[in-house]
Amino acid sequence: TPSTKSSYTIGLIPGDGIGHEVIPAAAQILSAVSGDKTFDFVNLDAGFEHFTKSGTALPEKTVSTLREACDGALFGAVSSPSHKVEGYASPIVQLRKELDLYANVRPVRRPRLENGTAADTAPLDLLILRENTECLYIKQERIEQTPEGQVAWADRRISERASRRIGQKALDMALARYLQRGHATVTIVHKSNVLSVSDGLFRTTVRDLYAQRPAAYQPIQLNEQLVDSLVYRLYREPHAFDVLCCPNLYGDIVSDAAAALVGSLGLVAGANVGDRFCLGEPVHGSAPDIAGQGIANPIAAVRSAALLLHHLDEHAMATRIERAVDAFLTTAAPSALTPDLPGGKGTTQSVLNGILAGL
Ligand code: ATP
Ligand code: MG
Repeated sequence: TPSTKSSYTIGLIPGDGIGHEVIPAAAQILSAVSGDKTFDFVNLDAGFEHFTKSGTALPEKTVSTLREACDGALFGAVSSPSHKVEGYASPIVQLRKELDLYANVRPVRRPRLENGTAADTAPLDLLILRENTECLYIKQERIEQTPEGQVAWADRRISERASRRIGQKALDMALARYLQRGHATVTIVHKSNVLSVSDGLFRTTVRDLYAQRPAAYQPIQLNEQLVDSLVYRLYREPHAFDVLCCPNLYGDIVSDAAAALVGSLGLVAGANVGDRFCLGEPVHGSAPDIAGQGIANPIAAVRSAALLLHHLDEHAMATRIERAVDAFLTTAAPSALTPDLPGGKGTTQSVLNGILAGL
């Protein structure tokens, strides 16, 4: 059912690096499809740059504004220093927790390409669901002195509740795909041959949920695949997969791997969703190697804005954006694309103009 709301307040959190380039681009696309509805944008701080200026990576005001004033939000990226910085914790990991955004939805899509922008021209339509609240991301690490030297430990949390929630999301999204296309398969991604207790719980929880699914969900198929062989098969036969249901860490890795299949991380959208709120967030990071040059690919952020619109039940606006992006990717001269794609000589702005022209 389409939304009857006439205006939305959208939080914009560019974060670090290319977040400052791709989030304004995505906001511009939202305004362009708004029609007789309005989007009011609120800029909000978070990230490593903000931490170095202010001593806090996620200001309380950002969280309270999202909670109290926003219908949804877009997040760019944050730089995570590879060494430990005293007092710094990743604001996105914290935000997902604070707003209980338990599912990370990552469609990996490629329209049929005939303009040489990908080696393989067959279309691809995968949906990766990454559990968003636990696994190794609880960041319970410690170091121990032993006679043989230091030993580092990291706890990994897998709960029945979180596994059931992501499993249910996978079934719901598979059902929507079934209704559209007449087939849908959920693949549980795990490593329970080694981690029989933790991955074992993830696997059996999702399997049990599936076994007890209501009648409407009957046509959905269930498969499972060990994460290592999944990555291998993903490269050899990506069309063998549909919806992938992953614990947090595997979901992170599998989505970067799947991004390579469609040509660039700069194309892959994501959304952090809970039962109420949705925070669009491209899969890519802050890309410090290209930040500030005006050449970041805005498509991942623009597609993330479309995912946010779907969450707001603004499906017509979302579809308009998705079609304009696909049209641009399939018809643009390779040189009009950003340099992350083969032959790309364009800029964030030229890609944005191309999408705007196709809306
Ligand atoms: P972070 O620490 O923020 O995760 P990172 O460098 O580890 O940063 P990404 O930001 O995901 O990871 O970048 C990985 C590679 O992909 C980099 O070479 C980057 O330039 C490229 N890349 C990522 N996003 C884009 C984009 N939107 N447009 C063009 N190139 C991109
Ligand atoms: Mg990264």
